[in-house]
Amino acid sequence: MKAIHYYLLTGLFTLSMISCNNSNAKNNENNNSKNKVNMKFEKVALPYATDALEPVISKQTVELHYGKHHQAYVDNLNKLVVGTKFENADLETVVKESDGAIFNNAGQILNHNIYFTSFKKDGGGEPTGMLAEAINEQFGSFDKFKEEFNAAGTSLFGSGWVWLAKDGSGKLSILKESNAGNPLTSGLTPVLGFDVWEHSYYLDYQNRRAEHLKEVWKIVDWDVVSARY
Ligand code: MN
Repeated sequence: MKAIHYYLLTGLFTLSMISCNNSNAKNNENNNSKNKVNMKFEKVALPYATDALEPVISKQTVELHYGKHHQAYVDNLNKLVVGTKFENADLETVVKESDGAIFNNAGQILNHNIYFTSFKKDGGGEPTGMLAEAINEQFGSFDKFKEEFNAAGTSLFGSGWVWLAKDGSGKLSILKESNAGNPLTSGLTPVLGFDVWEHSYYLDYQNRRAEHLKEVWKIVDWDVVSARY
């Protein structure tokens, strides 16, 4: 009888400890989320050194583009979402459902996160696996695909992005998007995006956007890009 009593008491004690810990955890969570309200959206970590993409993209361009432009979109969005329905939303939801300044900054964060993780030191070559097959089937060859992609990027008027995107059945398309546009808003999945805003190439190529686009293929990380297909 004494033994049963002991186990019951131990059990109750353990239960109350667990519930105490849970409420402490919740309090900590609340305090943390209050403190972190202005840091919700963050840029992706750069997976290489800032000079790793030279000579295709200079260290100075990466430092300004990633360090200043990308950071500004993050800082802007974190301020803009305070008190809106997007305050606790994930980035893709914000891109799909917002407009105006919130969309512009959220779109640019998503676009640059994709962009900066598409490259590596001594990249280039060709895609692999299913993506390689789909490109050959739809565009005829990898070279023809690149030609079409570069033509889209060169002819895009003003600032924007050229994208390779896939639909639900795996069909590929090349999209020209102005400003912060992303294939997500058309129900497509982005596979590869080249930034054709002047800030992405002007220090290195001045007005020669076509030349920049031809060079960028030399740093593409096809392992990462192929895995998005
Ligand atoms: Mn940019």
